[in-house]
Amino acid sequence: MRFDIMTLFPDLIESVLGESIIGRARKAGIIDVQTHNIRDYSKDKHRRVDDTPYGGGMGMLMAAPPIYNCYLDIPKSAACHTVYMSPKGKLLDQKKVKELSEYDQLIILCGHYEGVDQRVLDLIVDEEISIGNYVLTGGEMPACIVVDSVARLKEGVLSDAQCFENESLCEGMLEYPQYTRPYEFLGEKVPDVLLCGNHKEIEKWRFEQALELTKKQRPDLL
Ligand code: SAM
Repeated sequence: MRFDIMTLFPDLIESVLGESIIGRARKAGIIDVQTHNIRDYSKDKHRRVDDTPYGGGMGMLMAAPPIYNCYLDIPKSAACHTVYMSPKGKLLDQKKVKELSEYDQLIILCGHYEGVDQRVLDLIVDEEISIGNYVLTGGEMPACIVVDSVARLKEGVLSDAQCFENESLCEGMLEYPQYTRPYEFLGEKVPDVLLCGNHKEIEKWRFEQALELTKKQRPDLL
């Protein structure tokens, strides 16, 4: 799967998506993440990409032409989907992540300042996605969250597909509590059932724990 990220701060994206599991998946060629610096498409002699909003108001807006020219320069596959990271968008959840993972290519536009000229959004964007009910300074961190959550569903990115088949939000519930060595930590022992070797018992216990936790912390999911 290919991700094309249109941004004013490609180094910010690289610093996050060049590391750890996603960094390794990129090196192994399982996913391809390309950043595109919108500033490179400014025709202004000072490489400006923003301007004041018509009608007045606070702050600056990202202008349409550099974003549009940047978009035109990105090679597109048939199953390509363009997303604008925006607090006005639909909230990202695991269902949406799964849906996005079914495209061959995601083009992601990161906004900055007070946002983006509406005309270019109308022209190139298929959907707007928000990562939460709060406002950030830019779309770069939201874009990294989309890439990370989508990429880890692609075959070969995680060592074992079961890693995401049983986890939180996958089946409408939060994940059960997990434990590793040492057996005893500050007087707290690992629950006995996890050492009994009976897989049916363990599964039953995990299901009950997941249900309890979901009821307590995220009753909206049930
Ligand atoms: N004035 C805009 C508004 O009220 O909707 C907010 C602009 S925000 C300061 C700058 C950029 O950060 C946005 O264009 C968007 O790309 C990104 N952004 C901020 N909060 C976000 C969120 N919750 N989800 C996704 N992107 C977000």
